[in-house]
Amino acid sequence: MSALASDAAEANPPTLCPRCGTQVAARLLHCPACRWLVHGEALRQLALHAEQSDARGDAAGARAAWRRALELLPRDSAQHAEVARRVDAIGRLIEQQGLPTEPAARLGRSAIDSGAGADEATSRSFGALGGAAAGITAVGLLVWKLKAVIAFLLTKGKLLLLGLTQGSTFFSMLLSLGVYWTVFGWMFALGLVLSIYVHEIGHVAALRRLGIRASAPMFIPGLGALVRLKEYPASPREDARVGLAGPIWGLGASLLAYAAFHATGWPILAAIARVGAWLNLFNLIPVWQLDGSRGLRALPRSGRWFIVAAAAAIGLVIQEMLYLLIAAAAAFQALAKDAAPEPDARTLTEFLILLTGLGALCAVTVPGLP
Ligand SMILES: [Zn+2]
Ligand SMILES: [Zn+2]
Repeated sequence: MSALASDAAEANPPTLCPRCGTQVAARLLHCPACRWLVHGEALRQLALHAEQSDARGDAAGARAAWRRALELLPRDSAQHAEVARRVDAIGRLIEQQGLPTEPAARLGRSAIDSGAGADEATSRSFGALGGAAAGITAVGLLVWKLKAVIAFLLTKGKLLLLGLTQGSTFFSMLLSLGVYWTVFGWMFALGLVLSIYVHEIGHVAALRRLGIRASAPMFIPGLGALVRLKEYPASPREDARVGLAGPIWGLGASLLAYAAFHATGWPILAAIARVGAWLNLFNLIPVWQLDGSRGLRALPRSGRWFIVAAAAAIGLVIQEMLYLLIAAAAAFQALAKDAAPEPDARTLTEFLILLTGLGALCAVTVPGLP
């Protein structure tokens, strides 16, 4: 991605600002001296497209155009904040009224191609935000984190875990992972990888529903999946939708495995249901860029304290250390200054369903095994 970004910069030599004559580097979205917008013409066309879509009642079309415009505006500008607000407001409307999430008409080529081309501009804006780290954006990073946990547990972790004969329930879960691996072998690993794929597809489905352009998921056999975002979620609310969709689909995969266990009585299915649920729960710890921190970002203080209470209560009931970690991290977030100004009932509901459902599945006993 950093290579791609620098290619784009080389292909586009610096331009002169038509307003003040300052040299504007190719990756910049505005003139550093007078803040003239490099993509002014494309932005005007996108705004026009958005207004026309709106007039036709095509909310998703208007959102797609505004979202494209976001990528052409400097992130610290007032225009960026205003357009992000619009994207979020249209999203609320679509959610509340159950409107179509697919635009009725594609964005006109003229709007996309004017200037240096929005796709190039998008790559460049990501490049400007910090090279490779920004290229493999939000969801991509999440995926890699989950993948790293799995890779660790399935390789080096296995020996380490088998050595941990005593400890808290947190470690007993890790320990049983090692035991399951030893007993069930590759079948268990395959089941886990499948449930991780389902988790990732959940993120992808949410991105689609929000009309956020992203690359197709690239699956790395045996390790995980990667999605590269071409646009950013416009608000904490959108970020929460995308973030929690992974664990929600993951919960679905675990429930399916558990249902199959009930139908067949095969212990391996119970093991997959349990460990799958545990991994999704791990992703709900509201730290770093994990899914849980995306969800919590959309909640006001009261909602965050509600999560603290729910996680602590469930953790005490089922004696699962991960819940106490979630509660502690959520309490830290509840004291943070970035609380959302208004409640988001859907995010709170989703989070509580996840805590409850995953907790129930974490308590599943695998026949014949600890
Ligand atoms: Zn200028
Ligand atoms: Zn995830």
